[in-house]
Amino acid sequence: MTLAKKGIAVSRGIAIGRAHKLERGQPEVAETCIPRDRLDDEIDRLRRAIDVANTQLQQIRKKIPGSTPTDISGFIDTHLLMLNDSALSEAPIQIIRSQLCSAEWALKLQLDMLVSVFDEMDDAYLKTRRDDVIHVVNRILRILTNMDEELPLHEGVQLLQNKIIIADDLTPADIVLLQHQGMIAFVTESGGPLSHTAILARSLKLPAIVGIHHAKRYFQNDEEIIIDGDQGIVLAKTSDVIKEYYSEKQRAFRLYYSSLNKLKNKPALSMDNIAVHLHANAELPEDMQALHDTKVDGIGLFRSEYLFMNRDDLPDEEEQFNAYQDIVSAMKGKPVTIRTLDLGADKPLQNLQQAECPTNPALGLRAIRLCLKDPGLFIPQLRAILRASATGPVRMMIPMLSNTQEIFQVINILDNIKAELSSQNIEFDQNMPVGGMIEVPAAAISSHLFARHLDFLSIGTNDLIQYTLAIDRIDEDVNYLYKPSHPSVLILIKQIIEAGKNAGIPVAMCGEMAGDPDYTRLLLGLGLREFSMQPNAILEVKNIINHSLIKKLVPASHEVLQCEHAEDALKHIQVINAQYH
Ligand code: PEP
Ligand code: MG
Repeated sequence: MTLAKKGIAVSRGIAIGRAHKLERGQPEVAETCIPRDRLDDEIDRLRRAIDVANTQLQQIRKKIPGSTPTDISGFIDTHLLMLNDSALSEAPIQIIRSQLCSAEWALKLQLDMLVSVFDEMDDAYLKTRRDDVIHVVNRILRILTNMDEELPLHEGVQLLQNKIIIADDLTPADIVLLQHQGMIAFVTESGGPLSHTAILARSLKLPAIVGIHHAKRYFQNDEEIIIDGDQGIVLAKTSDVIKEYYSEKQRAFRLYYSSLNKLKNKPALSMDNIAVHLHANAELPEDMQALHDTKVDGIGLFRSEYLFMNRDDLPDEEEQFNAYQDIVSAMKGKPVTIRTLDLGADKPLQNLQQAECPTNPALGLRAIRLCLKDPGLFIPQLRAILRASATGPVRMMIPMLSNTQEIFQVINILDNIKAELSSQNIEFDQNMPVGGMIEVPAAAISSHLFARHLDFLSIGTNDLIQYTLAIDRIDEDVNYLYKPSHPSVLILIKQIIEAGKNAGIPVAMCGEMAGDPDYTRLLLGLGLREFSMQPNAILEVKNIINHSLIKKLVPASHEVLQCEHAEDALKHIQVINAQYH
């Protein structure tokens, strides 16, 4: 009888292969004291383990193929940075000294402390970095406890050819090594869709499912299993009929994706000749490499806060200018939308954040609120953005606006900086467009007022959905309520698009919804003409646009707005998708 287990689908595609369980186990750590005369030896033991971990990660970094289409080395670098951060390289040594405990126990205490700090954070990205810290500490613990069953590293030998890995958890470094050895898909017992591991799987186009509790118990080594990365289902002991069904699905999936490649150099143009702009979201200047292959119309969202992460100091004006300039020059004349700092729980600002808003940081001093309160943080960034605007087309975008005064304040500060730059004979674009993210319901409801004072709007659906539906976007317990198709969300989106149209300014969307092919036709019908998304999604969305007759999608989308609840709206959307396929 077929065995089927459901988890969270984090990377699409079908894989059929043999299961390979990765039995690494979690290092168990017990409280252990050490005599005072062993103190130095214990500290040395920890330092040596950190050195070994460093060497391992450096080796893995070298294994990353040059052709890999994303900033994978950045993921490994994150682990290297964490490994060498004083929080892991120094603090546990202090604990060993003060508590006369083993290196393992000191690491465990330090990990517990760090995890609790991450758990308190509000920012989705930073919160998921908790997994990275756990991965790094586990790497050191495995070395200390001799559980260091390293993954296969043999050159040229594909030990895992056609294997589907089943593991309790996998780090980004594991994924690099395992794929090197022939892994075709993976299943993990823990993890979530925002983890680096999941992001990496999508970039590498490896079908992946996470969150199948006790997955290793259900599947046997070497038995044939099927991964349905669209539905998040793993199947074993299937009949020939089921296997044939999935083989066919896999062929169709591969054919579809290879057929998309021919769209790379084509514009996004609907069948009724309406041009649509497809922009990419980016986080680091290195992300530009991934865009070489996919022709995009610009960067619709550069999340500048990533320049501030994984470090103890803040990037100064010069460093920021160089980073922005790199992106502008890589885009060769195409517009780059730099979002001003959207920090909420970043390390250097954490104390300030907690002091101001101890209970609900999502509603607290973050993004533009924080920048307006801290000119020392904001002004260098604005100067850097303005200076970068002299090197190519730059648009500046303000996150999390909730009232129009915030726009006036920013424009006022910008005017002062422009006067200062002029007096210093420093070049900038006098007419650099300034836009705002509409991601707070108050801004959406009065977007017609915001549109009067901004050069463009960009809908941040990730936050707009969170705030409209009053659900924490990273809280697993309320995940089920997070629905882009909720009537209130759709009505607000329509309203923002209309507000931009009436004011004669462009409206983009840069939240995840913009890159979800299920919503492309609906959004076209609602009037959206600028989408910004992770680069991997662009060709699929372009394909849908190029096969759409927008004049037919308009009435169909308006019908969706009449639906009473999210499920009903979703059904309508699915009907539209099937009908106009
Ligand atoms: C959004 O909220 O939709 C958005 C794009 O911003 P972020 O995900 O960075 O908060
Ligand atoms: Mg946001």
